[in-house]
Amino acid sequence: MPTETFEFQVEARQLLKLMIHSVYSNKDVFLRELVSNASDALDKLRLAVLRDDTLDADTSDLHIEIDIDAEARTLTVRDNGIGMSHEEVTRLIGTIANSGTAAFLRELREAGDAAGADGLIGQFGVGFYSGFMVADEVTLLTRRAGESEGTRWSSRGEGTYTLETVAEAPQGTSVTLHLKPADAENQLHDYAAPWKVREIVKRYSDFITWPIRLVPEPREGEDTPEPETLNSMKALWARPREEVSEDEYRELYQHIGHDWREPLETIRLQAEGTFEYQALLFLPSHAPHDLFTQGYQRGVQLYVKRVFIMDDCEELLPPYLRFVKGVVDAQDLSLNVSREILQQDRHIRMMRRRLTKKVLSTVKEMRESAPERYATFWREFGAVLKEGLVTDSENRDALLAAASFASTHDAGAPTGLRAYTERMKEGQDDIYFMTGESREAIENSPHMETFRAKGVEVLLLTDPVDEVWVDAVGEYEGKRLRSIAKGEIDLGGDEDGTADEEKDKQGEAYAALLGWMTEHLADDVKEVRLSSRLTVSPACVVSDADELTPALENMYRAMGQ
Ligand code: ADP
Ligand code: MG
Repeated sequence: MPTETFEFQVEARQLLKLMIHSVYSNKDVFLRELVSNASDALDKLRLAVLRDDTLDADTSDLHIEIDIDAEARTLTVRDNGIGMSHEEVTRLIGTIANSGTAAFLRELREAGDAAGADGLIGQFGVGFYSGFMVADEVTLLTRRAGESEGTRWSSRGEGTYTLETVAEAPQGTSVTLHLKPADAENQLHDYAAPWKVREIVKRYSDFITWPIRLVPEPREGEDTPEPETLNSMKALWARPREEVSEDEYRELYQHIGHDWREPLETIRLQAEGTFEYQALLFLPSHAPHDLFTQGYQRGVQLYVKRVFIMDDCEELLPPYLRFVKGVVDAQDLSLNVSREILQQDRHIRMMRRRLTKKVLSTVKEMRESAPERYATFWREFGAVLKEGLVTDSENRDALLAAASFASTHDAGAPTGLRAYTERMKEGQDDIYFMTGESREAIENSPHMETFRAKGVEVLLLTDPVDEVWVDAVGEYEGKRLRSIAKGEIDLGGDEDGTADEEKDKQGEAYAALLGWMTEHLADDVKEVRLSSRLTVSPACVVSDADELTPALENMYRAMGQ
């Protein structure tokens, strides 16, 4: 059959160029990427067969195989999983399909220099293309389970790739790397050495639930030895907690979270009884760039009795915990469970409640026992979590206990509501806050003057969601949440010597002026009145207590309402 040549898409070409010229020292990650793809392909095949028993596929010995040819200096990663059709190879391998790669390129553009690139390769999983860090030619042979013909894809990474239809190909995918001659000199990068491969698999892929086998090199005059299984294949969430090391958790997180940084916190939960399940959840240390966009893929992986069922299972956690990664393995669900069934399942709802509470209590604990980690968490995810104050009244108290806010008390450290109330002045009944676009904007507002003068603490709320939750929540432990930009604020006139009598006198003295101003400004304001809230500015605009705050008014106006 004819071999056709195609050009890579622009972004793919950029990425390949980076890979080829990479001086990134940790090139080992290419193997992690290929094994990860092979593992996904085996998961997909098992699921496809469960869903469709007419599919003509061989599932008798699903595994991953690594085959080294030291003489030819090639390394092949082979799986007998789902494989790819001709169309899929074109779509998935010729373009930038994965979101991790797109994010990688975006960050790279922002970082703006090639020196930053190598560091970023380590942070993002850049998938299939990472093979070009160690190979000057990559060949992929694949056949989709159930189809008769296979496809061969090949490229030297220099702008083009070739495609060819192959009559005979084993089910699944094999990726062959022609290792760069230069790396042979360097022991650290000698990927044709079995010890090296063994070590990388152990380090990055031990938890993969499929066997990863190293094909032994044939020796003349000897029987070929049995292939050696390199990984322990243990599902971490099913092993006793004390047997699993931090490193193992981290590797699993990096595999399922597509994040090559450390997780901030690991959460385990075992539920026994009528509905049994294990959960292993991770709080990331960085918010993904697309957390607030519509298409954000949220949710954790769902397994049923160790069988992978789906990624991004949204039913297991509420939307405001969409950044949580992890695995939930349920013992009593059907392997054929669908999203529709999940949405209605009573047990799933119970599970979701329990997992939600567990995440929130973990954040609270972190706040008490690891303040620095908590501070990182809140900086990255506070704005998302606050959505829960509006949508999840059941967990409102737990959310308030987990929440922090910028405050005039200490510019460097956000405060919790509990700490705020403990600092409240004699006679102060309410918790004061002001919303605005930035800390600076709020601090320069005339509304702040008297609070500053009297040393009354004000929370400075700058996330868009703040406007909404303060109304929804209304109070904390019997103390009203009050905007300092709304209604009449009485901070107790006595302190600055303005007694009630005095106020009355002033009122009389200014009555005529106020009346005149009210009349002349009638188109713009409802009333002009004397205020004790200012110390320096002559006047400020306030809303009625039940009206929109200026910031919310701006927000609605910006949205064209
Ligand atoms: P990602 O794994 O993050 O999607 P990759 O660059 O690693 O990105 O792979 C791109 C896509 O190519 C995968 O999503 C998958 O659809 C396909 N693919 C890669 N390797 C295999 C494989 N061994 N078997 C089947 N499909 C594969
Ligand atoms: Mg991948």
